[in-house]
Amino acid sequence: MREVNVGHKRIADYRSIVSRELMAEIEELAARLRGRRILHVNATAFGGGVAEILYTLVPLLTDVGLEAEWLVMAPPPRFFTITKAFHNALQGREFELTDEVKMAYETVCCADAADLRRDYDVLVVHDPQPLAIRHFVDLAEGSGAHWVWRCHLDTSTPDRGLSEYLTPFVNEYETAVFTLPEFALDGLTVPVCSIAPAIDPLAPKNMALSREDARYIVDQFGIDVDRPLLLQVSRFDPWKDPLGVVDVYRSVKKERDDVQLALVGSMASDDPEGWDYLEQISAYVEGDPDVFVLSNLDNVGSIEIDAFQSHADVVLQKSVREGFGLTVTEALWKARPTIAGAVGGIPLQIEDGKTGYLVDGVATCAERCLRVLAEPERHREMALRGKEHVRSHFLMPRLLRDHLRVYVDLIEGKTLGGA
Ligand code: UDP
Repeated sequence: MREVNVGHKRIADYRSIVSRELMAEIEELAARLRGRRILHVNATAFGGGVAEILYTLVPLLTDVGLEAEWLVMAPPPRFFTITKAFHNALQGREFELTDEVKMAYETVCCADAADLRRDYDVLVVHDPQPLAIRHFVDLAEGSGAHWVWRCHLDTSTPDRGLSEYLTPFVNEYETAVFTLPEFALDGLTVPVCSIAPAIDPLAPKNMALSREDARYIVDQFGIDVDRPLLLQVSRFDPWKDPLGVVDVYRSVKKERDDVQLALVGSMASDDPEGWDYLEQISAYVEGDPDVFVLSNLDNVGSIEIDAFQSHADVVLQKSVREGFGLTVTEALWKARPTIAGAVGGIPLQIEDGKTGYLVDGVATCAERCLRVLAEPERHREMALRGKEHVRSHFLMPRLLRDHLRVYVDLIEGKTLGGA
């Protein structure tokens, strides 16, 4: 495994953004954990929501006095083909689990387990890719450590065969954390708690950009900044339904000829399907000059994502499955009118008609887009309510507090459940 260099962040910088009570709680919990060694393990340092979270959570853990580290797996590429299939199957797609697949999966986890130092107080293992590492760490050797499995996926209707294979691995942990209680896999015997993710308001991706700066950046991609723009930012993945987004755009275009669409997606290193899917999307767009399919390969980095999200007239997240949808949080934080699939953790963020719109198909989604474009002022108010909702619930200090609580509960031997 490889250590990720996360640099420094200071919790004091967040004082003006979140409540005094929350900051006091963080201080109190951190004091009880001073010097404790915390390890986070996941599959990738680039692309996707988990990496996004760890780039802020890990340095903040260090800043409040813990010794925090982040390791990513560095397996042969075939491993990620297997674990992306696991990801899809855990979100509901059928999957044929063979002995060969099990062997390939366990071989990597076993090697990574052998790589681990044994002196951590708490190990937080994210998602299915590194899940089985726990199984290969000798209990006697690692007896002082507390193990947490943090699942970011919507695992409410998993493929049964795969769920039966993976659940015993989860049961070797001390606790499992899901985004929503209903995501907990059947057959778990460990305590389960739920914690919603959060964004970092001070990360370059979420920093306030002036209207002019956002326009200037978006303009560089050939987009006409004086015409309306629909946007979806997400990995090129069928669960995010980018083809559905193109259908929405086409439907809106029939009534608003001036509309444009940008589909912006990064290529996560643990998502080998992204490339094929990008080709499918490009073919589906059929060379429409008002549709822009962009990725990190076109030099879209954090600041550019910020600019797109700050500038778009409507931000879409038309997912058909979603663990939480940090892209929704990011759009709401930028006070943009947001329309998203009513799936997974998205309804935690969007109350339909109040902080954004929830939709379940192309027709409703297109109709809501037209509404937003027709009445920008009314929807500006809606978007501002969305921003306040994010401020109260989905900013990083709250997530830091929830993590500290879990560590305190484990180390001090309290019963977990419902963090
Ligand atoms: N993201 C990005 N560039 C892209 C696409 C996505 O930086 O081209 C980021 C996005 O801003 C968000 C994260 O990746 O912070 C995606 O998290 P989310 O929870 O929405 O979805 P996931 O990819 O974890 O399923």
